[in-house]
Order: sequence, then structure tokens, then C-alpha cells
Amino acid sequence: MSNDIDFIINFLGEHQDGYHRAVSPPIFQTTNFGFQTVADLRLALANESTTPFYTRGTNPTNRLLAQKLAALEKAEAALLFASGSAAIAAAVMANVQHGDHIVSVQKPYSWTTKLMSNLLHRFGVQVTYVDGTEPKNFEKAIQPNTKLFYLESPNSLTFELQDIGAISAIAKAHGLLTLVDNSCAGPLFQNPMALGADLVMHSATKYIAGHSDAVAGVVCGSQALIEKIFASEYMTLGGVLSPFNAWLLLRGLRTLPLRMAKSAENAQKIMQYLDTQPLVTKIYHPFHPQHPQLQLAKQQMKNAGGLFSFELSHDLSIGQIEQFCNSLKRFILAVSWGGYESLIFPLCALTDSANYQKSTVSPHIIRIYTGVEDAAVLIDDLKQAFEAIF
Ligand SMILES: *Cc1c(COP(=O)(O)O)cnc(C)c1O
Repeated sequence: MSNDIDFIINFLGEHQDGYHRAVSPPIFQTTNFGFQTVADLRLALANESTTPFYTRGTNPTNRLLAQKLAALEKAEAALLFASGSAAIAAAVMANVQHGDHIVSVQKPYSWTTKLMSNLLHRFGVQVTYVDGTEPKNFEKAIQPNTKLFYLESPNSLTFELQDIGAISAIAKAHGLLTLVDNSCAGPLFQNPMALGADLVMHSATKYIAGHSDAVAGVVCGSQALIEKIFASEYMTLGGVLSPFNAWLLLRGLRTLPLRMAKSAENAQKIMQYLDTQPLVTKIYHPFHPQHPQLQLAKQQMKNAGGLFSFELSHDLSIGQIEQFCNSLKRFILAVSWGGYESLIFPLCALTDSANYQKSTVSPHIIRIYTGVEDAAVLIDDLKQAFEAIF
């Protein structure tokens, strides 16, 4: 049977005979599962990572989703979490202990930075951040106690890439693991494991859920690495996804290819419009001709989605940038992305935030996410907002 994307999304793991041939799989909204004999109970308990026994461990709705997500990432197995941050924390923590060292790409997602620099620091784990655009920087930062490389490619604010294949090869040569946050590209446009990575994490809140209604995360990897996380962080910290949210993600997955294609197409159209705007000085998107790593992007990504940033002229005041954003009627001023709706997030909003380090990024940059609306409507909205600041 073919393992193509349509098969994975529509058929893999579904056994409708088990539930009256319902087209949409049921939500197993239950905490625990009963057994007929002590022998069955004992057997289930011994195989808690694969057998429905207690929902913090395994639940059939979650298992169906995990099976599909693992297959999409070309991984043997996956674990679902209550958020992307929980997934990232579990994946990292399961593979370090007191006295260990991590080499991370600089400026990972804000709460990932906090995980490594603040939380893990309390437990004696050190981190070195490197410019990830040059694979050699990872190698140079290796210490005798280094255990893993942490990548996030593309970055979701300024879209720098890391050469996942080259960096994973360096890791392998030194006996280290490579972990990649693949939220920005999503599982259809980039598969880090096929490039040599060991664990891939997603904020499934974004493209995978796709409807701005569920916070979720996933870690994909080999059976052995996933079992290791299951037996430690997954079960002890217990930040697992609810069956209801797993079901919402299954629903979201059905249209992932459609949504990704439309969002990416809208981004292209809107970037083409912004390219003609004199007030726009730069566009940050992996597939934009201005991107300094365009060649790498085309090599390791099938496409890039609807998330990108643009910089406005420094002749504009922050007040004017705020006025531009406030004038938008279709784009919603909000964080996150990956849903049906278009969003705008000006980085000048970070200035008073405790979540972000002292701004390493220009406050003239605005991040856009293009949803699945009609591109013409979005472009008209941007037009009237530019007119509002002239
Ligand atoms: C949103 C995001 C996260 C965190 O995911 P949550 O689901 O919000 O916990 C991690 N990494 C990246 C790149 C993200 O965009």
C-alpha cells in the first residue's frame, strides 16, 4: 500500500469496522480502559505505551493521530503533547542530564530559549547559542559534555535556515542527537528526519490543527527515542493531549494539503504586492528571491508556507507602524499562525514583553501570516492601511 500523503491522511490507522464504519473516527473520551481478566490487565500494563490502559499513556483517538503524524514526518513513532512547548521540553529534557551541554541555533522560539537558558540551567545543563547559517559553527561549539544539537529551521520571525543534513551529519560523527523544531515549515513542506535528524517537534497548534481552536504539540522519532521520552517526561510530567483535541487535529489534518497550498499561494501573491511598495525595504521568507539562503531552502524544503516578515522603511516612526497595523481590517492583530485567518504581528509589540529577550530584531519588522482567504481581499486591506499612513 502506498505511503503517500493522501493515504496517510485519509486511511492510515483507521479501522472503521471497529466503530460502525463511522467516517469520522470517534473521540474516545475516557480516562481508563477495562479488562476481562487479570492476565489481560497485566499484559496491558506491561505495554502501556501501545495499549489503551490509561489515557495519560495511550488513548485510541490520540494513537490514530500520532500514527498519521509519525508517517507524515517519515518517523517510526510519535507522541502527542498538550502544547508545542511541552513537546519541545520533553524531547530536550529526555536527552540531557546534569552536567550536559546543548548547542542550539541562536534565537529559537521564545519559550524554547527560556527552557534552555532558565529552566535547564537550574538543573545544571548548559547551552551555547550559535549562528546556524554556518554548519561549522555547531561543530566548533562542541564540548566533551555536549549531548545534542537543537535546530529550528526556518526561524519563525526572521526565517534564517540551518542546513539540516550537514548539521545532522556533524552530530552523527560526534555521537550527538539532532532535534529540529519543524513548526514553521510543517510536515508537508519539510521532513528533517529524511535529512538525518533524530527527533522532530511541532507546535501542532499551527498548521496541523489549522483552525485556531486547539493548542497541541508532537514529537516524532525512532521507536527507541520515542519509548525513552514516553517512559520519562511523557508519563511523569504528564503534559499530554486530550482526546478531544486529538480529534480536532485529526479533523484539521484532512485539509492540511489544501490549506498549506492556499496559504503558500496567498503568501506569494502578497509578497509580490509588497515588493512593489516603496515603504517596504525587505522581505523575509525562505522562498523569496531576496533570501540569502534561497538555494538551501529549495534544497531541503518542498515549499514555504504562509508565514513571512517584511521590514518597513526606517523613515517611518514606530507610531506610524502602529497606525498601519491598527488600520488593517482583515488581518487580525495576533500571535500564532497556521489557521484559516490572516494575521499580523508587528515586532514593535515585543518591546515591553517579558517573554522575549531585549529586542534582537528590528521593531520595523512586521510578521504576516496569510490564511486561506481570497488574496485580493488581503491585498486591498494592506493598500488601505498604507494609504492611512501617507
Ligand atoms: C508556537 C511555536 C512553539 C510553541 O508551541 P505552542 O503550541 O504554542 O506551545 C514552538 N516553536 C515554534 C517555532 C512556534 O511557532
